[in-house]
Amino acid sequence: MPGSLKTEAIVLRSIRYGEADRIVHLYTPWHGRVGAIARGARRARSRFGARLEPFFHIRAVLHEGRGDLYTVTSADTISAHGPLREHATTLDAAARACDAVSRLFETSDPHPEVFRLLANELTLLGSDAAHARPSNGLALRLKLLLAAGILPQLATCAACGEQEHLGGFSAAAGGVVCNSCEAAAFPLGEESYQFLVAAVGTPLAQVPDASELALRQAERAISETAEHHAHVRLRPLVRAM
Ligand SMILES: [Zn+2]
Repeated sequence: MPGSLKTEAIVLRSIRYGEADRIVHLYTPWHGRVGAIARGARRARSRFGARLEPFFHIRAVLHEGRGDLYTVTSADTISAHGPLREHATTLDAAARACDAVSRLFETSDPHPEVFRLLANELTLLGSDAAHARPSNGLALRLKLLLAAGILPQLATCAACGEQEHLGGFSAAAGGVVCNSCEAAAFPLGEESYQFLVAAVGTPLAQVPDASELALRQAERAISETAEHHAHVRLRPLVRAM
C-alpha cells in the first residue's frame, strides 16, 4: 500500500485529542520518532484497546497523512510490559526512559540501537523492580548519549590529553578534564568517574550501583553534556527518585 508504514514501535506518549481520539508519539527502529493519530481510540469498543498506552511495544501499520501526523491503521501487541505497571517506581523509571529517548531522538533519523536499548530497558524494569534505581537510569542516558554521538570523553583530559589527575568534568570541553584544565569544570570524584566508565561499558542489566554523591555528579555530567551538545534538557533523575 503506498504511503503506509509497517513497523515495530514503542509508545512514548499518548495524548487525548478531541472527542475520542489519541495522538501518540511512537519510537520506531528505522523511522525514529513519529507522531500518529488514532481515531476513536478512546471509545469503549475501540479496536486499539489499551495498545496505545505508554510503554506498549506494538507492531503497527501507519498511514501517511497530509500533515506531520500518520494515522494508526492497526496495532498488535508484541509486549504490554504489564509487570512494570505494578509499581510506582518502575512506572516512573519507564516514563523517564521514554522521555529521555523522546527528547534526544525527536527526528525521523533511524537509530535501531536506541529502539533496542529502550525495549531492553522496559523489559528489565518489568522483570525486577530493583532495576528502577537511579544508576540504571543514568547508564541508559549515557548509552543514549553514545548513540547520539555525544558521549563525553572519559579516557583522557578532553582539553589537553593528559591521562592522569582527571578530577573535573566540563561539558564545553567535551568530557573529563585534568586538574590543570579544570577552569570551567566542576569537580568529578573518583567514584563518579569510575561509575561513568563502568556504565558505558556494562550492559544495562549489570550496571553497578554507586553512592548518591557519585550518582549526582554523574548525572550532572550527563545532563550538562545533553544540554551543551544537543540543547536538550533531561528531567532530573537522582534527586527525584
Ligand atoms: Zn588537561
